[in-house]
Amino acid sequence: MLDVKERNVFKSIEKEKVLNELVKIFGKNNVSDKSHDLYPYSYDMTESPRHMPDFVVLPETVSEIVQLVKFCNSHEIPIVPYVSGNNVGGLTIPQHGGIMCDMGKRMKKIIKVHESNMYAILEPGVTFGQLKKVLDENYPNLKYGYAYAPPYASVVANVLLTGLTNLSCSYGGMADWINGLEVILNSGDIVRTGSCFISKEFKDDNWFVRYPIPDLTGLFVGWQGMTGIVTKCAVQLWPKKEFNTALLAIVYGSETCAELIREFGRTECCEDVSAVNLEVAKMGYGITKPKKLEKEPDYALFVSISGNTKELFDAKINYVTKVFEKIKERTKNKKLLLTNFITFAKILGKEFSQFYDLPGVLTPLYDWNGLTWVGSYANPDNLGPLMDKCYKLFKEYDIGPILYMKSMKSSHYCIFRPIVRYQKYKEEEKVKELQKKFLEVMLEYDCVPYKAPIWMTEKVKERCDPNWVKLLEKIKDTMDPNKIFNPGRWGL
Ligand SMILES: Cc1cc2nc3c(=O)[nH]c(=O)nc-3n(C[C@H](O)[C@H](O)[C@H](O)COP(=O)(O)OP(=O)(O)OC[C@H]3O[C@@H](n4cnc5c(N)ncnc54)[C@H](O)[C@@H]3O)c2cc1C
Repeated sequence: MLDVKERNVFKSIEKEKVLNELVKIFGKNNVSDKSHDLYPYSYDMTESPRHMPDFVVLPETVSEIVQLVKFCNSHEIPIVPYVSGNNVGGLTIPQHGGIMCDMGKRMKKIIKVHESNMYAILEPGVTFGQLKKVLDENYPNLKYGYAYAPPYASVVANVLLTGLTNLSCSYGGMADWINGLEVILNSGDIVRTGSCFISKEFKDDNWFVRYPIPDLTGLFVGWQGMTGIVTKCAVQLWPKKEFNTALLAIVYGSETCAELIREFGRTECCEDVSAVNLEVAKMGYGITKPKKLEKEPDYALFVSISGNTKELFDAKINYVTKVFEKIKERTKNKKLLLTNFITFAKILGKEFSQFYDLPGVLTPLYDWNGLTWVGSYANPDNLGPLMDKCYKLFKEYDIGPILYMKSMKSSHYCIFRPIVRYQKYKEEEKVKELQKKFLEVMLEYDCVPYKAPIWMTEKVKERCDPNWVKLLEKIKDTMDPNKIFNPGRWGL
């Protein structure tokens, strides 16, 4: 059974007429109202309630989307942009029905790679795998950051959701790397933000910075829903270094793990500092339902380091090792171990290197047909108790624990994310309850949820600054008075 939401999508125009208009805009091969085409858009891997859209369209050009937005705005019909639906928060499930605007099929152009200014202008359908291939083959001195997301997930969608990658310890969240956007507003107007606003016409060589003008880009980022449809996004690229390696720390105790994450981040020598509980590391070598044995270490910590010269590279490794030894000595924990991850991965088998060789499909996360999490930006000082309390909750609910932690921007903040693999439909009620418990703990420790499903944003709203909510509502109402842009998110 699909959950039904009350909104009369066709109050001012008959469904048949909508179909005719969509066919006029997109051509009949790029529009469908057939249930078998719509059904895949009605759910995702999470426990989020399902809901069917009324149509799906496959746009190819900006002008098609402009026509769509104008039409939908005048008839108050919801539009939900979609690329691959891998957000793990129910964010593309059309809460009130309407039109799925699937940009993952025909809007996949990398419009420009500006080599000297180190940015790329992307259409929304460009995937992590596609970007990596183009950079590796044509721009060997440049790289982008890659998430644990599958290679077929959208770069731009993850940017708009303030995602995180294997360069986030150095450079922060992906939204920080936006140089500018091209967005279609509810009126159908096309607006460009960032330095590209200087020219009246679109040019591809002036997207080099986001500031010092008012940060209008921010009006479109982090909504989980949206305030406009993004059709181009300039993302910063980074210089590729010649020397690269990864280290692995084996750690006992959550506080020690939290301290290592914070301190490794602060060395400014690491591109990525991520940690998982030991059970996850065991999944990496093929154990589907791993158990932690008594006296085994608690956490595995992954650190990646690169350098332009051998001297610089070695110096970074030496400094990180020194920080590690200091913590080892102070905690008097003789069993702490820092080793080379790549050698370790070779011993444990190819599967283990999937944690390092991104983007990739992290097979252990797909062992069940359900996957969900409470993702958050966390205060680095609170990581230890968060890890202990959420680990305990996993045990209480008899669900295999997966804790994921990451240092962001030299440990100015961290990621904390308890991840749940589960049997969809069979275990949903239990999982919903567990997710609520995670959220309670995480809000108690001031975590800020990201990619949050609707039930989560409702809980956040209950306890946050009411004037913040008022401002949020005012902005959304101004930018989307007819509630056509992925309505329902944040209860709006
Ligand atoms: C196994 C797994 C691991 C993951 N690991 C990570 C990780 O390490 N780091 C991380 O950051 N994420 C991670 N993710 C999350 C996920 O991959 C990202 O959120 C994803 O990249 C978004 O791309 P998508 O194609 O799934 O977007 P979709 O889910 O299709 O869309 C995401 C959101 O963006 C909106 N949207 C899409 N296009 C536009 C547009 N043009 N204009 C306005 N709004 C738009 C959609 O409406 C929706 O709200 C992981 C996901 C999985 C399944």
